[in-house]
This record gives sequence, structure tokens and C-alpha cells, in this order.
Amino acid sequence: MPDSVILQGSDDENDQVDIQNNQVHAQDKSWHENDEEPDDFDRDSELDLSNSSTSEDKTYGDIVDSMKFIVFEDCLDILLAQTRCAECNAPMCAKNKTVSGTNVVYSIEYLCNHQELAWSAQPYLGTSKQKVAAGNVMTCAATLYTGLTYSRISSFANCMNLAMISDSTFYNLQSSVLIPIVNEAWKKQRNDMMTELKGNNVPVTLAGDGRCDSPGFNAKYCTYSFQDTLSRRIIDYELVQVTQTGTSQAMEKFGFCQTLDRLLCDGVSVGTIVTDRHVGIRSAMKKTYPNTSHQFDVYHMANTIRKQEVQGPWRSA
Ligand SMILES: [Zn+2]
Repeated sequence: MPDSVILQGSDDENDQVDIQNNQVHAQDKSWHENDEEPDDFDRDSELDLSNSSTSEDKTYGDIVDSMKFIVFEDCLDILLAQTRCAECNAPMCAKNKTVSGTNVVYSIEYLCNHQELAWSAQPYLGTSKQKVAAGNVMTCAATLYTGLTYSRISSFANCMNLAMISDSTFYNLQSSVLIPIVNEAWKKQRNDMMTELKGNNVPVTLAGDGRCDSPGFNAKYCTYSFQDTLSRRIIDYELVQVTQTGTSQAMEKFGFCQTLDRLLCDGVSVGTIVTDRHVGIRSAMKKTYPNTSHQFDVYHMANTIRKQEVQGPWRSA
């Protein structure tokens, strides 16, 4: 089998190991013939790969800030073929490769009876019982936090034969690690904003609007969000499911009331609320929150006027 076949990604790892062994055996011959360390060998400057596989001395910040590279398999093979036993300087005789998502772990054997070298291309996060390669978690995190989807990054990776995590790993890490982190960060950010707003002692002006997962009468979810118009930050939101209200149309008002009640309950002084001209919200403002000023936002007003102007002649015809 020609080398080029292997480098293009053969599934048969035994073939790879055999061919690598042949190459190394040719080198071994010269090593035994000399029976001495090569002249240019400097033990102190020899690659010490054994420490690279642990992250015990690294913080999460170090791992995030560390640069990452795309490394080709054949380039890695060249590097690993040059490693030698740390005890006796014997050259490599075989290596086994295990691919785990974006990570690759090598077990390297030497022409001596000393211990094999276990080398991982990535540090690990978590405990020794439940550890995960940092690159796998960070691939998931970068995908979720930049608004991409698994299918997009999977296609990207397929296009260039880049090792990638499976969809089940992606969704497992998303639900078990990433979403809890987002929730935790949101809770902290919201608490900080509540403390700041209460400390200002000035009634806030909030702009609110709802966004549903699909238009029309078939929406299943609606997110109602309030923005502080001064800082332009979203200070609270509510995700409503249609089963909570019975109808899709009722979700927006329900989300509005839930979010506003929670803000008032947390001690935020709300002076003015700006919304679109939603009938249910106009009614709720009059009946439930009569002391809060209610205004309509310019965007929705302008849109309504524009539609009336465009539709006017045909409507009257
Ligand atoms: Zn050795």
C-alpha cells in the first residue's frame, strides 16, 4: 500500500502501524550499528511530551487562551517518529492512535522494555473519572456561543476531512455543560443589573417586545424581553410555551406580565414602558399597571401608518 493512501485517511489502522514500523526499523538498524547516541542528540533539549497530556498545572483560563492549530496527520507522524525513550534514548518502534472527536491520543512504544509514552494532542478538563478533551468542549462552546449549529460545523469539518465530534457528543456537552454555564452567567448578570438599577433610585424606561418561533397562529414558543432603554441591555426575559396559555396569541401578553411582575417584585422602579400596539398588553397596562406610563414605539407606529397608506386605495376600492 503506498504511503499516500495512508495519509489520505485509511480506516485500517493496522496497515498504518505496520508501515510505520517498517520505516522505523530501517532507522533502528543505524541506531544499533552505531550503538551510541547520535552526535547531535541533546538529552536536555529532547521533546518531553509526557507532560503535555495533563492539564493539572493549567487553569481553565490558560487552556482557553492557549493557541490552537490545525495539524496534519503526516506532519505529526514525522514529529512523533523522532521521539525517543526518555530513559535509554531508544527510538520509536510502534505507535497506536486513538481518535476521540477533535482529539488524538498516541501510545508510542520504543525498542526497549521501558514504559510506553502516552501523548494527547489536547489537555483534559474535568476529573480523572470523567474527563473530556478540552478541544471537544471548546468546539461545542464556540459553536453555541456564536450562534452556529452542529450541522454547519460538521459540514465544514467534512469538507476538509477535519476530525470532529459526533452529533450526540455535541448535544450531550451542550445540555450537561454549556447550557448550565449560560444559565449561571445570566443569573449573575441579572443580579448585578438589578443591584445597579435599584441603586440608581431613578425610575427606568423599559422597551418590551415578544418574538415567537413561527408567525401566525401556530407558534409554540414566545420569548418576551425587556430592554433598559438607557443602558440598552436586556434586563429580563420570559420564555413562554403555548401549553401555559392555551393559544399562541395569548403568549405575548402572558410573557409581558410574567416578566414585568418579576421585575417589580425584585424592587425595580419602572416609570415608563414602551411596546407595540398589542391589544392584550394595552389592556393589561390600563387594568393591572395603571400607575406606569405606557407609550408606543416609533418603529411599530411608523410601520402601521405605512401599511395603512399603502393599503388605503385598494381597501376603499
Ligand atoms: Zn528505554
